[in-house]
Order: sequence, then C-alpha cells, then structure tokens
Amino acid sequence: MPDASTGDGVEKLLQGKVAVVTGAAQGIGLEIARTLHRHGSQVVLADLDCDGARRAAAGIAGAGTDCVGTACDVTAEDQVKQLVATTVRDFGRVDLFVNNAGITRDASLKKMQVADFDAVITVHLRGTWLGVREAAAVMREQRSGSIVNISSLSGKSGNPGQTNYSAAKAGIVGLTKAAAKEVAHHNVRINAVQPGLIRTPMTAAMPPEVFAQREADVPMKRAGEPHEVAGAVVFLGSDLSSYITGTVIEVGGGRYM
Ligand code: NAP
Repeated sequence: MPDASTGDGVEKLLQGKVAVVTGAAQGIGLEIARTLHRHGSQVVLADLDCDGARRAAAGIAGAGTDCVGTACDVTAEDQVKQLVATTVRDFGRVDLFVNNAGITRDASLKKMQVADFDAVITVHLRGTWLGVREAAAVMREQRSGSIVNISSLSGKSGNPGQTNYSAAKAGIVGLTKAAAKEVAHHNVRINAVQPGLIRTPMTAAMPPEVFAQREADVPMKRAGEPHEVAGAVVFLGSDLSSYITGTVIEVGGGRYM
C-alpha cells in the first residue's frame, strides 16, 4: 500500500534534488534525511557528532554514495560555509537546506543561568541564521531552492521552563519571514515547521510524568513521530509547495490550534 510519509510505492517528490539536513545524526533530523532520500533526494547529513552522522548516513536503507555524513557545528560560521561549499563541490547544487539542529537547557527562570540561555539562543538562532544565509547565497544564483527551519510549538505558546528555547523558536519564525521576503524574487522559498511533542531522544530526556501530561494535552491524544515532521519537510521541499513561502506549518496533533 502506498505510504505518503515514506515515499514507498508513491511518486518520488524529490527525485534528483540535493538536500542538506543539520543535526541529522539522530531524532527528527535523521528521520527527515531518511524520508528525503526515500523521495529520491541525495542527502548530506550534518551533525556536531561526525561519527554519528556518518553512521546515520550509512544506516539509511538503500543509501550508497548519495547519502553522506559530515561534521558541522551550526554555531560556527566557517563550518556552515564549508558544509554548503562541499555540498556544491560534491553534488553540484543545494535544492533543500533543513535547519534542524537543536538543544534544550531547560530550567525555571529562577534557576536558569546565562550560559543556558546563550547556548540555546546560539544553536537555534545563530545556527539557523547561518544556514539560511549560506544556503540562500547558493540558491539565489541557482534561481531555485527551498529552506526549511525547524521551530517548535514552544515558540508559539511559550513553555514554562523553556524561556530560552521558546524565545529561540519564536525568533526562528521572525527570521524565516524576514529572509523569505528578501529572497522570494530569486525563486528561493523559506518556511518553518513547528513540531509539537515528538518522540525523540530529546523528549526521552523529559521526566515520564511531564511527557504523559503533555501528551494528554494534545487533542489527538498522542505524541507525534519523527516521520510525521519529515512529511511536512518533504512537502515544503518539493514542487507541491512551489507558491508557498514565509509560512509556518504546525505538526502538533492539534495542540495550540
Ligand atoms: P535530538 O534528538 O536531540 O537531535 C538533535 C541533533 O542536533 C543531535 O544529533 C545533536 O547532536 C545535534 N546538534 C546539537 N547541537 C548542534 C550543533 N551545534 N551543530 C550541529 N548539530 C547539533 O533532537 P530532536 O528532538 O530530534 O529535535 C530536532 C529539532 O526539532 C530541534 O531543532 C528541536 O528543537 C526541534 N523540535 C523537537 C521537538 C520534539 O518534541 N522532539 C518538538 C519541537 C521541535 P548531539 O547529540 O551530538 O548534541
């Protein structure tokens, strides 16, 4: 039976495209990379954890030389430049760039340290901004491309204990819209995805009672799975969304609608 989330048995929506996914060694990023590949894309999986990225690339079913893992700290300007440059050198172009890398450093306002605030803002906001800037530079010359920034419903609603993360994820929405306006006339589209509660190593670190409470708050009464976020990224990366830019797609089971 055709499965639109995986591309198995359905038309491949990204045939011949070249994609880069940051933070792709595990979790949502890995699932995005896997799904993009199933839809016919060549994929560069970038992560702080280089061995993890290489293992993840090698573990993608049917992956040969069209899936590679590489090191990239998204907070480092030279490394993001290098990531985009080596992708162009090795694959010829960049059609889709997914700013997915992320961290949490949760604490109440009373207990949160400046270092926790700075770390989260730097990875999410500076990291996404660098990815947008470098990918857009290549895409405007190509006169085509799609950038997808992974925000969070935490940036829409604000979660207690996540003043740093909610600020960063809301900031990604502003960055997405401003950048989308700058490059739209070059046929470069930039959109954001706001996942809700998704089952990944990041949320596995939550106390089980907090996870259960958040799950109970979801109208669909379950956490989402990484492939359900990946489906939205495939749509935004494909020609199905050719007239969509500067938008935010919520993948949250109806939470905070
Ligand atoms: P995850 O399992 O922790 O994966 C995040 C990946 O990003 C890890 O491989 C991590 O590497 C990597 N990373 C961290 N800092 C990096 C950096 N400076 N440069 C490059 N890579 C870096 O998290 P996830 O749950 O899949 O989350 C993926 C994205 O979705 C994040 O942006 C997150 O904020 C967002 N999101 C997640 C949820 C959810 O419920 N899970 C909900 C909304 C939004 P290391 O392991 O080596 O640090």
